[in-house]
Amino acid sequence: MSVSRTIPFFNYPALFHETEKEFIQIFKDVCSRGAYILQKDLFELEENLKKFLNVNHVFGVADGTNALILGLKAIGIGSGDEIIVPSHTYIASAAAVALVGAKPVLCDIGKDNLIDPISVEQKITKNTKAIMPVHVNGRTCAMAPLEDLAKRYDLMIVEDAAQALGSKYKGKCAGTFGKFGTFSFYPAKVLGCFGDGGAIITNDDEIAEKISLLRDHGRDKNGRVVSWGTNSRLDNLQAAFLNFKLQTFPEDIQRRREIAQRYHEAFKNLKEIDLPPHPNESPDHFDIYQNYEMSANDRDELKKYLQEKGISTIIQWAGTPVHHFKELGFNESLPKTDMFFKRCLMLPMNVSLSNDDVDYISNEVQNFYKK
Ligand SMILES: *Cc1c(COP(=O)(O)O)cnc(C)c1O
Repeated sequence: MSVSRTIPFFNYPALFHETEKEFIQIFKDVCSRGAYILQKDLFELEENLKKFLNVNHVFGVADGTNALILGLKAIGIGSGDEIIVPSHTYIASAAAVALVGAKPVLCDIGKDNLIDPISVEQKITKNTKAIMPVHVNGRTCAMAPLEDLAKRYDLMIVEDAAQALGSKYKGKCAGTFGKFGTFSFYPAKVLGCFGDGGAIITNDDEIAEKISLLRDHGRDKNGRVVSWGTNSRLDNLQAAFLNFKLQTFPEDIQRRREIAQRYHEAFKNLKEIDLPPHPNESPDHFDIYQNYEMSANDRDELKKYLQEKGISTIIQWAGTPVHHFKELGFNESLPKTDMFFKRCLMLPMNVSLSNDDVDYISNEVQNFYKK
């Protein structure tokens, strides 16, 4: 069979080539200043993210996983505590809870394929300390019912917003609803750097102070060690690249929303697939489309067919929701998550796709179901 073109799921070299000249200039500038660790480029990025997210404190850290660990430590989560986490998430969300000595308690997803408040309520025990909504695919979870639960049961909210930089619910940015929110700058994330990177945000001054100490060996502003800490600093060089990319990030989001709309138009009459929400589906949600994750009949055959046509797709978390990791001691039954994982599939969704690419992908999905 002849492959007429190849569309990778994510074009990693394009991340560099699209603005290669500028990146090389930044590299030269930062390195010739010898500005590698905790330097002005990082602080500028943190300031710019504060404005972008409308939040009081931002800290660049090693990666999105470390952001979660630092945040949980900063709010005092530890042995004996339970945190409710959706099973439809990256292993890192649950791992962070386990690594601070607490217990991740997994819950199911709702109709929107995000954390289900009804399932959360069923999982609350006397040891529950917090709920961790995960804003999967760049859609902020419906926060109102979760905030209501948190209030009624006196629980904290902590947000894994690794996939949701700039996503909003009722005009408020993902990551600003709870005690803290975390982001990832992994290359394939909406705002990606050339390696690992992450950030943690909070509106709470005390939590901010603790995070600031935790990420840099417990050292205060005068360099004095005042508590235990670790090394979890975002490289200044990566911060400089991110700061440059942040300038055009709103346009990147706009482009992702256009692509989502284009897919939507192409697929809206296909009965065989359930689509993610249209960008203008609800005034409460502003989605940034980290991913375009749909549910499809004959998912495995569709994936294979698209691969033969040169189109790479991915099943999220390599096809395994967290509660299926029996080796980690999980044993719950989460029927909605299980049902979702039989059909879910992510189509390419990134700013290096042309409209022509999107149409090619859409046509091939349609061709598959015509057979
Ligand atoms: C990417 C991701 C993380 C981890 O981020 P890293 O920067 O890779 O450590 C955590 N949670 C979710 C939902 C993610 O998508």
